Amino acid sequence: MRKKIVAGNWKMNLSIQEGANLIDTVCAQMPTLKEHQQVVFCAPYTHLHNAHLSLQKASKNNTFLGAQNCNPNASGAYTGEISIGMLKECGVSNVIIGHSERRQYFNESNEFLKQKTDALLAQNMQVIFCCGEPLEIREAGTQNDYVAKQLQESLFHVTADQLQQQVVIAYEPIWAIGTGVTASTQQAQDMHFFIRSLLASTYGAEVAANITILYGGSCNASNAAELFSCTDVDGGLIGGAALKPETFLPIIEAMA
Ligand code: PEP
Repeated sequence: MRKKIVAGNWKMNLSIQEGANLIDTVCAQMPTLKEHQQVVFCAPYTHLHNAHLSLQKASKNNTFLGAQNCNPNASGAYTGEISIGMLKECGVSNVIIGHSERRQYFNESNEFLKQKTDALLAQNMQVIFCCGEPLEIREAGTQNDYVAKQLQESLFHVTADQLQQQVVIAYEPIWAIGTGVTASTQQAQDMHFFIRSLLASTYGAEVAANITILYGGSCNASNAAELFSCTDVDGGLIGGAALKPETFLPIIEAMA
């Protein structure tokens, strides 16, 4: 059975204490996760050490600490950047890469994301690889080609084993991120089915069936259950609704 995951992307929000309180409350109140279910908290860098201690204290199975970015180089003159080794030292096991905000505001290219993918895989990290199209591409009806290019240029060079053991894909239509506009279940299912078909034609049907594909974009307590009921939607990458226990917990519960 492929993994179901709800990952919270806090972005540049919350104080260290607020973050720790959020983890404490969510872990205390969430249902016991089944073997194939996971919850990941992707916190800002300054939170990671404390967030790791909070997760250790809560001692809940299948809960993990994630970061929102990394630099592919091991060390050196990269002012303001963070290495994968530094993240690991803070207890991080999962890293989001390719988020549209990083592509858009920090000009991250498919080639640079390929380097990050390789560096993370080499360091035995779990990768949450984001893809998704802007509104004008959706309006032009070329979203499949757009997403295929992102995946082919940054991810589909990895081996089938690496993909199955270390990679989760998150489809996040940019027009739905932080806008309150959610993709319809049909739009989400269609794209997830397309991504799985692409995986099947590249790696074979068995590998494709094992890959977790998350939906992200204004997913919240009211729409999570419906989105997660789609055949090819295996959970969510959650932004705004991951910042409070009362909005994040129902999304975790919707994974059932
Ligand atoms: C995100 O940025 O990953 C995201 C899905 O944000 P939101 O849930 O706020 O749309």
